[in-house]
Amino acid sequence: MAGHNLKEESYKDKILTEDELWSVFCAMFSSRARHDTSYKFGFFKSILDSLYNVDARLMLTFEQLFDKFTEIYWNLILKYHLKQKAVTKNGKGSVIERILWEAVARGEIVPDISFEAVPDEMKRIICGKVRMKCKENVVGALFRDSGDLMYSFSKKAEYIQLNPQIYTFMTKHKKILEKLNYFEWAKYLEKVNEDNSTKNLLNHLDTLTLRNDLSIYRRILFEEFEEHTCFYCGRELQHGEVHVDHFIPWSFIKDDNLWNLVLSCPQCNLKKSDRLTSDTYVEALVTRNRNIAEKQPDRMSPDYRDDKLRMVYYWAKYNGYNEIWIPGKRGYTIEKI
Ligand SMILES: [Zn+2]
Repeated sequence: MAGHNLKEESYKDKILTEDELWSVFCAMFSSRARHDTSYKFGFFKSILDSLYNVDARLMLTFEQLFDKFTEIYWNLILKYHLKQKAVTKNGKGSVIERILWEAVARGEIVPDISFEAVPDEMKRIICGKVRMKCKENVVGALFRDSGDLMYSFSKKAEYIQLNPQIYTFMTKHKKILEKLNYFEWAKYLEKVNEDNSTKNLLNHLDTLTLRNDLSIYRRILFEEFEEHTCFYCGRELQHGEVHVDHFIPWSFIKDDNLWNLVLSCPQCNLKKSDRLTSDTYVEALVTRNRNIAEKQPDRMSPDYRDDKLRMVYYWAKYNGYNEIWIPGKRGYTIEKI
């Protein structure tokens, strides 16, 4: 793969027009971009899923990115049994397949266990192995495919720093870029896998990092911060009926962040579903988050800022989340924007 052996590079610092920005991504996904494995799709998804975890300098550590990357591949390989490269004559699959299946063979993990259920220590070891091996192949290759424009990186210091123009473009067109990535990724996986394992492939790709168990956040918010009323309708929450809601829908953010999670009654959670709610609640959440940051700063991720929440909300609207769900005294209303 072109660029895979690069060690440290800086993005070309030049002003890009909207057309040029589109062409960066079109070139990245064109048939001319070579793929020995599916890594570039997985790494690009890891970046897209981490867009709202960047720090003020738009940096993401390899640890952040490859933890996501491992989770993505965990599901693709162990859950859906999808090969990530065409098997060569000597029967070798991709490095990440070998790392995961070897851990299974050694009895360190069981293949049916979900990623979230793996003990932290084991997760750390496996993510570390994946990072050490896969960073060599993918970071420079995606950089080169983007025409040396997407980010600066250092394999030694283990970070990428996004080009601000690319970052803005990606937040603005997140959903479209995500779909483009899934489409090309699915095409690639269909090519290297037998027909039957690629059933429902596009849906699988979209839910690779969906967590089912949000109970840890329920415990933090309910017990540590004593949030005992529904964030939306204000009703008192009964034990056993406390839902954790992604304020900005998970399908947009693709991540679980305390700053975006609220407790709600089951009705509000289910009715709101995959929608946004009104600006008033954004400000209520800003206040709630300030309260958490004041009481226990280490509970709040260091890259959280009030403006970030407002910005993500704005970008979600821009990306097609155009139904605003508003709870009221008698039921709720939905406004189209
Ligand atoms: Zn409610």
